[in-house]
Amino acid sequence: MTESESTSADPALPERLARAITLAGPIPLSQFMGAANAHYYATRDPLGARGDFTTAPEVSQMFGELIGLALTDLWHRADRPDARYVEFGPGRGTLAADALRAMGTVGLDPSVHFIETSPTLREKQAEAVPDAEWNVDLVGVPEDGALLVVANEFFDALPIRQLVKTGDGWRERLVACQDTLFLPIAGDRGFDQVIPPHLRDAPIGSILETSPAAVAVMRALAKRIVAQGGAAIIVDYGYEGPAIGDTLQAVRGHEYANPFENPGEQDLTAHVDFATLAEAARAEDAVVYGPVTQGELLVALGIDARTDALSAAAPERADMMRADRDRLVGAQAMGELFKAIVVTAPGWPVPAGFA
Ligand code: SAH
Repeated sequence: MTESESTSADPALPERLARAITLAGPIPLSQFMGAANAHYYATRDPLGARGDFTTAPEVSQMFGELIGLALTDLWHRADRPDARYVEFGPGRGTLAADALRAMGTVGLDPSVHFIETSPTLREKQAEAVPDAEWNVDLVGVPEDGALLVVANEFFDALPIRQLVKTGDGWRERLVACQDTLFLPIAGDRGFDQVIPPHLRDAPIGSILETSPAAVAVMRALAKRIVAQGGAAIIVDYGYEGPAIGDTLQAVRGHEYANPFENPGEQDLTAHVDFATLAEAARAEDAVVYGPVTQGELLVALGIDARTDALSAAAPERADMMRADRDRLVGAQAMGELFKAIVVTAPGWPVPAGFA
């Protein structure tokens, strides 16, 4: 393999980051995370049992089907406008394929627009949804037609900033290095003014996370939904912040790893602050429902009836369907850790499950 073809253990990124830090000093965590994830996703398909992690649509077709039917129901009650399906970070395209198949059964056949930066995953997505169009952000998505939008485990991959409380007040967490060993340090500049007053006196060592990238995407999306009509279902591992807590984590081969090791070779995520996302959408005059837990959402959308129907159609697989349903909904599994919000244009109907 030539260097440009190599995927695992590519030496280029750690060395590039180390060189940048040696020359210009420690870099913000957001820059480290952005560079690491761009390389990580560009060079592999990380999903599934043999990859690094498994997502809800890869657990069961029911996830994508129920999300697709929820959007279809909104579209129907909004008097069936011309519509476009937009998905952020579609992974293998599984959720989209399941959602679009469910939409098709009730006569909704939107154009498909994927927001995806990874060439490797774009190829996978093209196998699942051949007539999709791709963009790196919303700018290229047509400005007409109502937008039916999905983002599952997308926002958690966007870079975060961390602020850390030190003996000298709040500082930004930067990434320094020795050779190619990376480690977090506190920067020199004070950040006390940007800390919400009720959190300022947190104990030394406390960490507060923000994601300017997530807020920027949410604002741009809400603006388009308000202008064009439509709705977005956003599902992710998350909390209602701002709150103290270090949620940066690395996963490799389904195991937790040190987030500062092997940049570009493991998945870096941070929990999503849904209260801040909701505020960003409302700042653009969008209507926000939730957050609710993933379990609550899927039960409200009818996962139990869907499990029964699929089980009746294939009794030999009934136990498996039940196990998949429990994995998506169960409190010990994904049901409570994952949360969902729905963002709609003003005047659009109330989404099912939020009445
Ligand atoms: N939604 C899928 C995949 C989640 S993994 C699922 O649920 O299975 C995160 C996805 O977001 C991948 O497709 C990754 O390539 C994409 N992604 C990560 N950062 C991105 C960015 N800044 N812009 C566009 N896509 C991004």
